[in-house]
Formats: sequence, C-alpha cells, structure tokens
Amino acid sequence: NFETKSECANRLHHWVEKNRRYTEEGTCASYIPALRHADPHQLGVCIIGHDGEIIKGGEADVVFTMQSVSKVISFMAVCLTHGLAYVLKHVDVEPTGDPYNSIMRLELKKPARPFNPMINAGAITVASLLPGVTKEEKFAGLLDVLEMLLGRRPSVDEAVFFSERETAHYNFALAHFLKAEGFLKCGVEDAIDIYLRQCAIEVTTEDLARIGLVLACDGYDPLCSKQVLPSELARLTKAVMLTCGMYNASGKFAAFVGAPSKSGVSGGIMTAVPPRRHKVTPFHNGCGIGIYSPAIDEAGNSAAGVKLLQHISAEWELSVF
Ligand code: GLN
Repeated sequence: NFETKSECANRLHHWVEKNRRYTEEGTCASYIPALRHADPHQLGVCIIGHDGEIIKGGEADVVFTMQSVSKVISFMAVCLTHGLAYVLKHVDVEPTGDPYNSIMRLELKKPARPFNPMINAGAITVASLLPGVTKEEKFAGLLDVLEMLLGRRPSVDEAVFFSERETAHYNFALAHFLKAEGFLKCGVEDAIDIYLRQCAIEVTTEDLARIGLVLACDGYDPLCSKQVLPSELARLTKAVMLTCGMYNASGKFAAFVGAPSKSGVSGGIMTAVPPRRHKVTPFHNGCGIGIYSPAIDEAGNSAAGVKLLQHISAEWELSVF
C-alpha cells in the first residue's frame, strides 16, 4: 500500500545518504578516458518490486554506460541463439578469483577456453558468438534482447566507445590470444568493436532494476505478464552472476549481500533478488535493484554501491541464503 511504499522510500533515501561517504573509498575508472569526468560523489538506486512498485533514492536518474553489466545480456543472447551446450564449448561457468581483465589463466590450460562469461576474456568470446555475420548484425542481436527486456532500444554513448577503443590494449591482447586459440567466431577487430560497443550502451538504474526483476522472477516479466526468457536460462544466469558477477570480490559479495549481481566499471550494479518464502519483509516477492555510483574499488565494483546493497540486504533480508 501507499504508506508502506512511502516509508520504504524514506528509509532508502536515508540509507543512500548514510552510505554516500563510501564514495570516498573509490575512484572513477580512468583507463577509459571518457569515464573520468563522472561525479564521484553520486550514489543512486532504484528498486522495482514484483507488483511493479518503484522506489528510488539519490541520483537514480543519471544516464551511464552499462560496461560489464552488458555481459549478462550478451551471455543470455548467445544462449538463446545457440543453446547452452554450444556456448559452454566456448566459455565455462567457473569463477577465477582474478581481476576482470586478467590474461593469466588463458595460458594455463590449452585450449584456452575462458573461465566464465563475466570476465573480459569470456565476454569477448561471447560477443563473437552473437547471431549474424557482420559486427552490425551481431550487435543488433544483442540490442534485440535488451529491447525485449526494457521495452525500448537503448542508445550507445559513442564518445565512451571511441575513448575506450583508443586504450583497449588489454582487451586486444585477450582477443588476439583467443583468436589464436580458435575461440573467436569473428575477427579480432570486430569482436572488440562489438564488445566495447555493448559496454557503451546507455542505461539508468531503473533499466538495471527492470532486468534484475525479470531475472529474479526466473525470466517472467511481471510488469507485462509475459515469460520473456526461459526459466532455466534465467536461473543459470543468476548462478553465474552470483559466483562470477562481482569478479574477484564475488565471494565476499555472496557472503555479505547474498543476491546475484553484476557490476561494471562505470559504477553500475544490477541485482536480482528472488522471492524469499516465509518472509514478510519489503520486497519478499522478489525485486530488481539498479545502482549507480561511479567511484569504484580495486576489484572494479562501485565502492558505495556495494556498501549500500549490503545495508539494504541486511535491513530487508534480501540474501538468498
Ligand atoms: N569496458 C570495460 C573493459 O573492458 C568493462 C570492464 C568492466 O566493466 N569491468 O575494460
């Protein structure tokens, strides 16, 4: 009811202001020149519940680029196209404990199948598997899935895309290695182009909360009463998010937040909170959460965003465990 909703919104506002100080514990990603200009003190959150109710706190309406949050979408897109068995031949679903752009494990075991789709090596491979032949077709295949989830076709921040491509040496190194090992289904230049373009897709916290909600509901979109993703795919994606979505901080995140999430270096986090039985806390029927706070920690996760999620999770018992 309305009172409950406004009370939840008040509490959320309060928690945002309480956790804003943690923005000081991170810095904006500077290796992508265009991200340097973000305001490091911003912290915004949007939560969408099962019945469509939305509450927001802080700078929830800022437009930012998805960065690695897009890896969830491209993974689902290739699974929808090729089926899981084929996708698993190209990328595993095992966490690494390494930084997201690490090349180290590709050389440990030949053939160099990337460990999971949430790290750059896996995501570049996945980008090359998108349906279609040209890079334009492949990118359109990813936008199709996003459009199905968001109800609109999102735009790309071309400045962020070009600025990252100038400095994408690690990603090019990964792509060349993967190409040499036979894992890329298109050329190196095209794979990087698709991957960096997907990272530059523009969203708000509300968009991330919407996708989080669909995942929370096992692929069912309660806002338009439609099963938009197969439930097995939604569950698998949540498992990969929980084990790999916060990179080498995924273990601590599972322990202290306990909900499948994916972060990006622009400071976004997308969280899926599945329904919790026998609970009467707010959002016990499941919800999606979108966070934006561009100052990131050393693992590449939004510093204040993680703290805020921890706070919300503790107060409203959002952990799946
Ligand atoms: N575009 C970024 C990169 O490839 C995405 C990484 C991230 O968000 N962690 O480095």
